[in-house]
Order: sequence, then C-alpha cells, then structure tokens
Amino acid sequence: DKGLEKTKENFFSKITRAVAGKSKVDDDLLDNLEEILVTSDVGVDTTLKIIERIEARVARDKYVGTDELTAMLRDEIALLLTENNSDDLSEFTLPERKKPYVIMVVGVNGVGKTTTIGKLAYQFKQKGYSVYLGAADTFRAAAVEQLDIWGQRVGVPVIKQKMGSDPASVAFDAVSSAKAHDADVVIIDTAGRLHNKVNLMNELTKIKNVMGKIVPGTPDEVLLVLDGSTGQNAFEQAKQFTAATEVTALAITKLDGTAKGGVVIGISDQFRIPVKYIGLGEGIEDLQVFRRREFVDSLFG
Ligand code: GDP
Repeated sequence: DKGLEKTKENFFSKITRAVAGKSKVDDDLLDNLEEILVTSDVGVDTTLKIIERIEARVARDKYVGTDELTAMLRDEIALLLTENNSDDLSEFTLPERKKPYVIMVVGVNGVGKTTTIGKLAYQFKQKGYSVYLGAADTFRAAAVEQLDIWGQRVGVPVIKQKMGSDPASVAFDAVSSAKAHDADVVIIDTAGRLHNKVNLMNELTKIKNVMGKIVPGTPDEVLLVLDGSTGQNAFEQAKQFTAATEVTALAITKLDGTAKGGVVIGISDQFRIPVKYIGLGEGIEDLQVFRRREFVDSLFG
C-alpha cells in the first residue's frame, strides 16, 4: 500500500530479523516479538493480548516453526481488526436513507482535521454527492480560512460566521443550508480544545443537539481524527474524546510519515471504534477508506 512503506519496513523487517536463524519459537523470540509490537505503537495492552494468544497456540501446538509464528501473528492482528471494523465499507459512499448525512468532525488542532475534511469533501464530490462544509471551529481564524481554502479547491460551499461566534450556531446554519439545498452530506469542523473536559463535552453536546433539531438523528457520524504519528498522544486523545462524546468512527492521519502504523491496531482494539479512514499524505487524494485485509497484507509484505 502506498504510504504505509515506513510501517511495513519497520514492522516486517524487524520480524524477519527476529525469526532469522531460529528453527522454533521460544520465549526469547516471543519477548522479541513483544518488543517489536510495542515499538510499533501497537500499545502495551493490545501487544500483551496478541502475545498471550500466540503463547496459548504455541503451548497447544508444541512445535511451532518460525513461518507459522509469522502466520499466527498475521492471523491475530487480522482478527483484532475484524472484531472492530467491518470490511463492507465501499469507497466513500453514503447510506441512502438520510439526507443530508451529517458528519461531525472532532480532534485536537494539528492532527489533520481540516485536511481530512477537505479530502473527504473531494471524495464525496467525486462520487457525485453534493457537499456542504460547516466551519464551526470559530476559535481560530486560521481554521476558518483553511476550511475555506479547501472548500474552494474542492468546489463546495463553506458555511461560516465571524470568528468567535457560537459554534452551535454555525452548525445550525450549515445543516439548515444543506437541508434547504437538498445536499447529500454536510461535514462540520469543530474546535479541538482539550483543556477542559466539561467544556468540551458541553460544547460538543450543544452542537449535536442543535443539528438534531433540524434533522432528527443527526449527527449520523462523529468522526475523531487522530495523528497516527503521535503514538501515545493519539491514545490519550482518543481517551479524552470518547469520554466527552460518542465517537462513532476514526480517521487516522499521517501514516505515510511514520513507521509506527501499529497505532491503528492498538487504538482500534482499545477503543472498539471502527477506523473508517486513513490519511496517507498531504494531497487531496491521499485519504483511503480503511480496509483491514489490505492493511494487514501491507504490513506483512
Ligand atoms: P488541523 O489543525 O487538525 O486542522 O490540521 P491540518 O489539517 O491543518 O493539518 C496539519 C498539517 O498536517 C498540515 O500540514 C497537513 O498538510 C498535514 N497533514 C494532514 N494529514 C496528513 C497526512 O495524512 N499525511 C501527511 N504527511 N500530512 C498530513
């Protein structure tokens, strides 16, 4: 997979090196494997889970060669991803039942939130959907400007108000306009301030409630954007946002620039939220629908 080379290089070559010259799996090798997983940012808990499952299989099967070990590891990772991710996601298609489909995007500044919104808008537009963007991150002038730039680039309207205005009011306007124009999807950018959990919770709840008044059942999706190159920070942000609101999907960005793509496995396991999109570059087309099989395949060469 284009963009995942660094992770693959790190992960697969380390595993290859660890098993080289060994004829069977022993404690030493399992310790080594554990370290490789942890240093790939799979996270300690998920790593231990994987290692325990492999240990149990090794104990049961008595003799396990190194090829089998690699296959087991691959199985276990695929299984973990299967538990939390459907494989049925088709390329950037929206459910037909609801118009407009509303995606509320959350995440701290700098993780690639605006870029992900722009890329998503582009993909949806390519599919023939009409898209509206809502600039509800009203705390930073740059955030509104950036979203505006993406809106122009993609050719979709951006609903905004002046800086400092009420984010819920912007969300209200965006969903109302989208509805009035019979748009297919509206994507709402929100401010990513984590300094105060109660504030964050109140703000997100308010935005959600306002949108729900215009189109019941809205938002359809709360998409949390995480920077995949930040390892434990990404875990920490996932913890805080899931405590503040009901996150329904994840976008993990910047996987092109990191060797630590294992974070996808750990986060998806720890939070039990499907990874829906992965970001693999700064360009408009560098967003992919996450497919677990392809992901595992690309990790193992
Ligand atoms: P925001 O503050 O969360 O809205 O972050 P931005 O969308 O402005 O992105 C911050 C920086 O990360 C920008 O320079 C983006 O080009 C870059 N970026 C976003 N997504 C990706 C990605 O998937 N890969 C890479 N390499 N860079 C990305």
